[in-house]
Order: sequence, then C-alpha cells, then structure tokens
Amino acid sequence: MKNITILGATGSIGSSTLKVIAQNPLRYRVFALGAGSNHAQMFTLCQQWQPKYVAMADKAAALILQKQLAAVGCKTEVLAGEEGLCHIASLPEVDMVMAAIVGAAGLLSTMAAVKAGKRVLLANKEALVMSGQLFVDAVKEHGAELMPVDSEHNAIFQCLPQSIQTNLGHCALDDAGVHKILLTGSGGPFRYSDIDSLASVTPEQAIAHPNWSMGPKISVDSASMMNKGLEYIEARWLFNANKDHLQVVIHPQSVIHSMVQYTDGSTLAQMGEPDMCTPIALTLSYPQRVEAGVKPLDFTEMGELTFIKPDFARYPCLELAIEACYSGQHATTALNAANEVAVDAFLQHKIAFTDIARVNSAVMNKVCATEQANQLDSLESLIELDRMTRILAREQLG
Ligand code: NDP
Repeated sequence: MKNITILGATGSIGSSTLKVIAQNPLRYRVFALGAGSNHAQMFTLCQQWQPKYVAMADKAAALILQKQLAAVGCKTEVLAGEEGLCHIASLPEVDMVMAAIVGAAGLLSTMAAVKAGKRVLLANKEALVMSGQLFVDAVKEHGAELMPVDSEHNAIFQCLPQSIQTNLGHCALDDAGVHKILLTGSGGPFRYSDIDSLASVTPEQAIAHPNWSMGPKISVDSASMMNKGLEYIEARWLFNANKDHLQVVIHPQSVIHSMVQYTDGSTLAQMGEPDMCTPIALTLSYPQRVEAGVKPLDFTEMGELTFIKPDFARYPCLELAIEACYSGQHATTALNAANEVAVDAFLQHKIAFTDIARVNSAVMNKVCATEQANQLDSLESLIELDRMTRILAREQLG
C-alpha cells in the first residue's frame, strides 16, 4: 500500500487522480490532500477519503474547513498556508506526491516533495518551467523520482528506454539513439478559425477544448498553444533535450499523445483515449501497469489521423515560448509569470484573446533586456523575478 499526497486535489488532475486511486483501493491510500481555497469541495473529499491531513493555501478557507470537519466528527487534521502544503508534500509516511496545483503557486510545495526525495508525479509544468536547472538538479541531489503526468511527456517517457526513464533531467538522448522527440498537440478550439476573428473570441469559447476536459488556465493555454510552448520547455528539461531534438506537430485528433524517432528510422508512438487517468495511472504504478478505468482505442472507429506543421501567425505564444526556451531562465520564468497574469485577465474579460501574446511578448522582452545580469541560482531569486514580472504584466494590461 502506497501513501499519496495530492496537491491540487480539488482540480481536474486531482479528481482524475482520485478516480485512478478508486480503481485500485488495495494499492494506493489517500494520505493527504491540498488545494487553494475551495473548502466546500475539500469538505466533500475529506468525508469521502478520510485523509490524515489536509492543507489549504488560503488560511480563511482552512479555518472554515476545520470547523466543518470538527462538526461532523471527521478526524482529518487541517493545515494552512504554503507551509501546510509543503508539510504534506514532505511527510515521512508519504511515498508519492501528485503535484497538480496550477501555476507558479505550486512551485514551493512541488520542490518540498523533491527535496524530501519523493516520487513526484509532475503535472504542475509551470514549476519546472520557472525553475528549470534548479529543479532537475534538486531531483538528482535529493534522490527524488520524477514521473511526467502531462500526457505528451508521459507518452514520450513510455517511448524511451529505461536508462532514460530512470535518469530524467540528466539523461543523454543521443547515447540512447534518439533522433527527435515529436511533441504533438491538438491545436485547440481555434485551429481552423479565421486568424482575424481570434481578437473577438470569448473565454467560454477558448475553454471549450475539442478533445480534453481540463481546468480553465490550461484550457486557455491550449487555445493559444502557450500550453504546447510550456510543454516544449518542460520537455527540454525532463529529457535534457536540445533544439535539434524537439519538434512540435499539430495532430487534431489527439489519439497519438507524442512520439520518439530513433536514428535507425523507427518512430515509436504512444496512443490512447484523451483521458488523463491513463498517464496518471502509469505515474502511480511504474514500472508496472494498473487499471485506469479507461477503455482501449477502437481502431476501426477512429477515422483518419492527420498531422500539420504549426503556424506561428496563428500561435504567436508558441513561437514566444520556443524563443524563451533558448534565451535562458530569465525568459522562461518571466514568460510563465506574464502568461498567468494575461490569461487571468482574459478569463475575467479584461483583455482580448490576442492580447495574451501581446502582453507576454512585451513583458518577456522587457525582462530579458533588464534582468540578464542578475543571477537566478536560488528559489528566492526565481520567486522575486516572478513577482516583479507580474507587476510589469499588470502594467501592460493597460
Ligand atoms: P484546475 O484549475 O482544475 O485545478 C487547480 C488546482 O490548483 C485546484 O486544486 C486549486 O485549488 C489549486 N490551486 C489554485 N491556486 C492555488 C494556490 N494558490 N495554492 C494552492 N493550490 C492552488 O487545474 P488542472 O487540474 O487542469 O491543472 C493543474 C496542473 O496540471 C496545471 O499545472 C496544468 O498545467 C497541469 N496539467 C493539467 C492537465 C489537465 O488535463 N487538466 C493535463 C496536463 C497538465 P482550489 O480549487 O481550492 O482553488
């Protein structure tokens, strides 16, 4: 029986993780749950799963939850704030931590799990994007085990040999005969829209992803393909890849979740239903396989699979992220922070969809022009850059 902490338990990945655990009650136990402020949903989860601990980032929400749980006699201990999340990520009884808080807010608790040497099931790609080298070095130093949850990285992981799977962050792709990693993406809901019409799309249209059901931030990122850009940076760090190793391919059907090409001309692909329970199940059970509650593909019902080159005029955020990836840590940390501010403003109807790329580009260029000289060799310096970038981004919102 493995004890699991789920950070981001009230979100889309959190709920898929709980679904997989429900399929395998004799293998996995929900030891602790963490989230932001949604105490009502956490109250329901605590009654259902009876975790030993729960942590809410929002202290007022933690207080309300504590009173509600006491009133029904639930013995779950309630912790509060960032310290509470870091605590449940590093408890000695915990074997695995699902890092599924959205955005930079997940950095410290994900890092706490890494520093405690846990198996870290990494959904929170923003944590890796904003801390890159520091993150992968901490994984090695503390003997943590990194398992990619993102369906693309999980697919790539499955197509790579064990020597790479067990040395993420520091592996040598060339030594394993890897020629290229093909990172696939659906292209989001606007892949066939007139580019001129993108300025007037609504948050509701952007969130309506054609293939996947996800939280609001990643859904908007998928529509702008910033998500693919963040995944590109994520792949660069997870697989220690260089520019020649990485290529983005649009695959509208989302049947193939990514591919690896080898020097002998072979291409390996991982396929499946667009359901996050499959990659989550593998991160929990690796190197074995367990039931995920997902039906296998029916190839006779599938229809055609198509592939297209991404058009940067339609997806400027993707181009920006690739540029950031090779400009250095300042650029990726700043881009991630600017994007969080811009997406939030778009979701609140304060800016247009196309303004997301405008804000991201202006802020990233400003940060790269002024901050290159400052060292980014600690979590504190990254968090400070993130904070400063958010101020610049709010100024750009106009
Ligand atoms: P959701 O928006 O559905 O859930 C976000 C979770 O983060 C919630 O539990 C929320 O808690 C919590 N949270 C938000 N802010 C804070 C905070 N300040 N402190 C602590 N917890 C906080 O997001 P998703 O589940 O879609 O995505 C989570 C992560 O997984 C993202 O990084 C995303 O990129 C990644 N991912 C998601 C995929 C998907 O299919 N959804 C696929 C691959 C990766 P509360 O409800 O209390 O606000």
